[in-house]
Amino acid sequence: MNKIAFIGLGNMGGPMAANLLKHECPVTVFDLVPTAIDKACEQGARAAATARDAVMGADVIISMLPAAAHVKSLYLGDDGILDNIADNALVIDCSTIDAQTARDVGQTIEAAGKHFVDAPVSGGTAGAAAGTLTFIMGGSSEAVNMARPVLDKMGKNLFHAGPAGAGQVAKICNNMLLAVLMTGTSEALQLGMAHGLDPSVLSDIMKQSSGCNWTLEKYNPCPGVMEAVPSSNDYQGGFMVKLMNKDLGLAMDAAATSGSSTPMAALAQSLYRLHQGQGNQDRDFSSIFELFAAK
Ligand code: NAD
Repeated sequence: MNKIAFIGLGNMGGPMAANLLKHECPVTVFDLVPTAIDKACEQGARAAATARDAVMGADVIISMLPAAAHVKSLYLGDDGILDNIADNALVIDCSTIDAQTARDVGQTIEAAGKHFVDAPVSGGTAGAAAGTLTFIMGGSSEAVNMARPVLDKMGKNLFHAGPAGAGQVAKICNNMLLAVLMTGTSEALQLGMAHGLDPSVLSDIMKQSSGCNWTLEKYNPCPGVMEAVPSSNDYQGGFMVKLMNKDLGLAMDAAATSGSSTPMAALAQSLYRLHQGQGNQDRDFSSIFELFAAK
């Protein structure tokens, strides 16, 4: 059984580590927040006093951190863990970060004789808790094959998008499209409602017509249309507006790097920024629906 070090036990990392523990993997954990470590230890994890201690003797290191700066400093910073990682160990970074940082970190780790996979996730906190995340991997085939049995314990769909960094590119392409679909679906529903249509009836019609998309099928943004989605719970839980804005920022940076034209995403980003500026940063991203309400 792999000895796993898990670093970053937040909204996503906490439940992901819990799923490894449910599969009886030996997991050593570290987070900057002591209560997050305590919670993992109640579930069977071993606590480490530092990130460097956590990775000593581990075959697999998993990180789930807020942003690129955290990932870079964890692995490559002055006090970073690279020198403490065993030769041939596998590093899996599940954080959502820019592709270039993933490539830089991956190349440095591989040059030091270890393996690297970037494996950002889709599925949110509910998927993390249920062990049904989608992992979108970038890395060599060898590293990806090493990662599969570990990620299998926390997810149900594993994809290999290409070399290191490709997982990050595929993930932001998906979330960029999701932002466009959510804003478009929201304005369509609001237009229908402004003309007296019942949003449930309109949703059923569009679901069976050419406007059908994931937001209508699984995540309707209009309160009361669908049970057990954030819109029917005052937009609590789910995927926060500030995280969607983070991903749209990564998508726009990637577009600038390649000279790609992404006008739909640029507009969606502008709308999500406006929505966040109106105090909605911690609400689910489907709350953008409210922005289009007829006054
Ligand atoms: P979070 O802020 O809840 O958790 C991050 C954790 O990392 C915190 O507990 C923090 O203390 C810890 N941390 C930061 N720097 C550290 C360091 N140097 N050493 C150890 N621990 C450190 O964030 P989250 O919601 O769990 O998201 C994690 C990543 O997953 C982000 O990149 C995010 O974009 C991505 N993501 C989040 C969701 C979601 O719905 N929350 C969905 C998909 C992807």
